[in-house]
Amino acid sequence: MSSSIPYSGGLLDRADALRADTDKLNELKHHNEAQFLVFDNLCVAMNQNQELYWITGKDFPKEYKVKTTLVFLGMAEDGIPVFAFSLTDEMDLWIKKLNCQFVDVRSAGMLLLDHRASIVAHARSILDWHERYKYCAKCGAGNSIQICGHKLRCSDESCAVEHFPRTDPVVIMLVESPDQKFCLLGRSFHYPDKLISALAGFMEPGESIEDAVRREIHEEAGIHCHDIRYYASQPWPFPSTLMIGCFARASSVELCLDPQEIEYAGWFSKNDVQQLLESTHPQFLPPQPIAIAYHLINRWMEIT
Ligand SMILES: [Zn+2]
Repeated sequence: MSSSIPYSGGLLDRADALRADTDKLNELKHHNEAQFLVFDNLCVAMNQNQELYWITGKDFPKEYKVKTTLVFLGMAEDGIPVFAFSLTDEMDLWIKKLNCQFVDVRSAGMLLLDHRASIVAHARSILDWHERYKYCAKCGAGNSIQICGHKLRCSDESCAVEHFPRTDPVVIMLVESPDQKFCLLGRSFHYPDKLISALAGFMEPGESIEDAVRREIHEEAGIHCHDIRYYASQPWPFPSTLMIGCFARASSVELCLDPQEIEYAGWFSKNDVQQLLESTHPQFLPPQPIAIAYHLINRWMEIT
């Protein structure tokens, strides 16, 4: 089920046991067929056919390969190592000669609605993490990048704290009415014009997924819910969220919206949702297929 959710279903073997094996990684970096995914300001290189632009080991100038911070993403099914890196200023002239363009990862995700988007999401989240966590969160000294991109270590030896990539869980839930004939959709103030979607919110420390679903629904819509069912999850690499998609059943229908967060929310019948999905609804537009909300809504149409 989850393999149809964009940015998920990765087919690379992440081969975490190799990350700390410096000799082996050095060998893999210099593999002639190794594949390198290039990013510029967190945008990924694509070719004119809107496919990912891979640089192979033999085409990657050795001087750049040695000096660049490479993120080891894993091994492809055919045993080819896969890496990602961010462009440095000195590579400018070289990269301009290549026939590629840099595309933001959200747009790339819409073009790559298969497992390749998962590779891009993994790489973007790690590269972004390097940018955001240059300094130790405990003492403020500089961090150094270790095990081919997957760990940061404080450079002050008296601290030497190790930091690992973060993932921030968000619950996103499609709430059904007590009779299961309607679902609850809403708009936050910051949504694009006309977009309506499932309600969502960040999980808090000390909460289970079910606790977070119950709390968010009560905070945003003023109703209690039960019968919480996990559907699927989605890595959302902006910068490193994990969307946890659930269904839930409301105990009542009278809404009391959070005026700080929710611009509008209401109950939508199957007919309304059908119109939404066909983009013929008079007021609102549905989430795009790249978002797990779209898949939650579609699944609800199938199961009830
Ligand atoms: Zn430190």
